Amino acid sequence: MDAPLSSVPSPEEFSTCIATGVQRERCAALASAGIEIDLWVDHEYQRRYAKASTRLATTLRCVNALYQSTGMIFRVRKQRSFDPAERRHDLRALLRWLRHSRSRSTPDHVLAIAISAWDQRMVYSKAGREVGLAQGASAVVPAWPRVENDCVILAHELGHLVGAIHVRAANRADLRWIMAPSSGVFYLPDKRPIERVLGLFRFHPRNAECLFAHRNATFSANRGTRLSAECAAYQREVDTCWKE
Ligand SMILES: [Zn+2]
Repeated sequence: MDAPLSSVPSPEEFSTCIATGVQRERCAALASAGIEIDLWVDHEYQRRYAKASTRLATTLRCVNALYQSTGMIFRVRKQRSFDPAERRHDLRALLRWLRHSRSRSTPDHVLAIAISAWDQRMVYSKAGREVGLAQGASAVVPAWPRVENDCVILAHELGHLVGAIHVRAANRADLRWIMAPSSGVFYLPDKRPIERVLGLFRFHPRNAECLFAHRNATFSANRGTRLSAECAAYQREVDTCWKE
């Protein structure tokens, strides 16, 4: 590998640097069975959306489509409804509750995700600020008025759990990183909003390679993330090419 870059590289510089590495093929040779999720869904979500299960399935299909190029796939292992009560609009309290709740029923390597159905006014007043929280192997997200928002926010928070990091938004208005630091409310007035999301949003090349390296990782609520030796070696190449 060439000398590490001294400043934050552009996506193109990163892609050129990583292309010179040799570890990717060894990591690629390992199969990936997918990453399991236990899903807690606010009972208000079921009441609010007439086709709640279709909407959830659409969200997950959209998330997996955003991850497709990384080789990572998410599968729901268990789904249950819950009443967040006074924690509905309080992501920190909800995350504390989720981390506590998962300990009784969710194996260490399974990701725990809770979706709470916020009042629409709350969603708008929070726009541009913290709209999801992720820690350890757990994350909480609010449901947004439109399913395409749910898709991007969930993809972003899952990204935090599985090896992606924040990257600055690109200059080009038509290109949006999934791991940009903040996401505002956005509308994509389109008959096919999910296709629009898939056309607009993507992972920065650095994150796409990290996710590739993490696609058969094991996650632990308390002991962090573990990669196979082959994929850990590739992750080190990624880190060498992306110095901040
Ligand atoms: Zn974030």
